[in-house]
Amino acid sequence: MDEVLRQAMEPVLRDLRGAGVAPPRVEDDDWTDDADCASAMLWSPDGSGRGVYVSRPVPECERVAAVADQVQEWVIEELWGQAPTNWPPCPRHPDHHPLRAVPREGAAVWECPADETLISPIGAL
Ligand SMILES: [Zn+2]
Repeated sequence: MDEVLRQAMEPVLRDLRGAGVAPPRVEDDDWTDDADCASAMLWSPDGSGRGVYVSRPVPECERVAAVADQVQEWVIEELWGQAPTNWPPCPRHPDHHPLRAVPREGAAVWECPADETLISPIGAL
């Protein structure tokens, strides 16, 4: 996999493993056809796939947050019908929404989407 994308994806995959969610199979796929982007496909065991990409020129915290957001969408689709889909659950409102991946002050973090409380750095859930 592209090194920029691998580094950006590592933290959210660590959070996935910590939650006991089986990670996607990641396959190199230059589907954006854009030299400023690094891209890949995320594959589920059932054969459904989803693209993921990062923009190379942006700061690392933005890349980590952007990839976490895309992997989170994959997880929510993956868990649909099998388990609660609000991954990662907001500890303040666990029945209402998952956390949101955002860049904040140079770090990639999970925050509550309702009140923007910082919950955890991405990769340290
Ligand atoms: Zn919340």
